Amino acid sequence: MESRPEYDAVVVGGGPAGSTAAYLLGKSGHRVALLEKQTYPRVKVCGGCLSQKSVRFLDRVFHLPIPTLRREGLLDFTGTGYVLYIGSSRILAEDLVEPLYFTRRDRYDAHLARMAAEAGAEVHTGVEVVRVDHVHRTVTTSDGEQYAARVLIGADGVHSRVRRSFPEKIVRPKRWHGNLGWALELAIPRKEAETLANGNGPIDLDANLAKPHLILAACRWGYGWVFPNSEAIVVGLGGLLQKNGKGLRDLFEEFLKTIGFSAFADRRPAGFMVPLGNYIPSPAHEGTVLIGDAGGFAGPILGEGIFYAHRTAELAAHAVERHLTCAAPLAETYTTLLRHRLIPELRAERVLRDFVYGCLDARMQVPLAAFMRATNTRVIDAVQGSRSFRGFWRDDDLHSAVW
Ligand SMILES: Cc1cc2nc3c(=O)[nH]c(=O)nc-3n(C[C@H](O)[C@H](O)[C@H](O)COP(=O)(O)OP(=O)(O)OC[C@H]3O[C@@H](n4cnc5c(N)ncnc54)[C@H](O)[C@@H]3O)c2cc1C
Repeated sequence: MESRPEYDAVVVGGGPAGSTAAYLLGKSGHRVALLEKQTYPRVKVCGGCLSQKSVRFLDRVFHLPIPTLRREGLLDFTGTGYVLYIGSSRILAEDLVEPLYFTRRDRYDAHLARMAAEAGAEVHTGVEVVRVDHVHRTVTTSDGEQYAARVLIGADGVHSRVRRSFPEKIVRPKRWHGNLGWALELAIPRKEAETLANGNGPIDLDANLAKPHLILAACRWGYGWVFPNSEAIVVGLGGLLQKNGKGLRDLFEEFLKTIGFSAFADRRPAGFMVPLGNYIPSPAHEGTVLIGDAGGFAGPILGEGIFYAHRTAELAAHAVERHLTCAAPLAETYTTLLRHRLIPELRAERVLRDFVYGCLDARMQVPLAAFMRATNTRVIDAVQGSRSFRGFWRDDDLHSAVW
């Protein structure tokens, strides 16, 4: 077995979480290896929706303001409005003060990994980690190579092998599985979708297929979506696995009919797990920390995970930096940062999730519609990051840079 020289940090997984951690630690002059089992550009099943808190993060941390994102081909589509349905009832169709952007994950992830490499991280692709030794702080790859580091960072997504090497008392499997989502997604070429839009379903998609549509009650404890891309329309359905089980596949077909796309029912959607409120409150063990989907960090209502992947990576990189330079205890520093900066927000969003989806379970669609109409700007502000979910009902902290 070949053994490599010790790194300051080995990051397992090169999605938005792993690339952010590698970029930040590389920039600080640390010796970092990023191990990604696929090669770029690689496919990640994802709607690619970037809220304002994500684009602000890209500007603040990667120095990628909107014009640069556009120039680099990282913004595929700009959504300037949105449409919300509960079942087949149109509840809201509004313009957005600040847009939602849509990216293509193959380009997005490849670009950020490249930036990590430019910042000094060694990016090794086609390298799959198969074993983690927390005590000796090593990972072993499927080729039998061993990488040793002072710190290990698990950024290997929702099926994380690094997380699976953690003790159960940290992961709490029952809580994890109870809040784990499953989603199906199909990208329909825009030209084909345009010829069929508003065909024969009870839901009327906007005529130009230019606005993101969210459809509550398309499944239990989740929602359906129709997201615009320049060359495709991305149709998806996702919800808690425990509430929908294998029924989601049939519901997806039903959903295609509802939006007038039954002609595409013979195309096979891609499926992938998504965290929906199963964040691990203290995702650290020995010298290893978990970030992004590996730690269950995504918004409990919508499953928005790109921002949380970036943000947990930033907090973890800060903790690692403190650990490497001033011997601050790694696990304590990271979990304290999470506890102060992130977990209260996710907890508050989960309370709102339980209320919204609980109302749908109780068939309280009419009062829920009234609630959604009354609070829509608050919800949008919270998703966009200009209001916190914790301060949902308050107006005094609006635009006080929640993230
Ligand atoms: C259908 C669907 C739609 C979604 N839509 C949105 C959306 O519109 N907006 C949004 O913000 N979020 C969305 N999400 C969530 C978002 O995709 C994830 O939260 C995000 O990708 C998490 O980033 P990550 O870096 O933690 O993990 P990933 O992006 O999953 O990256 C993990 C990486 O680790 C690699 N890896 C895995 N195992 C190993 C190993 N053993 N060794 C080495 N490498 C390994 C993988 O190849 C992968 O590249 C969606 C998710 C799904 C399933």
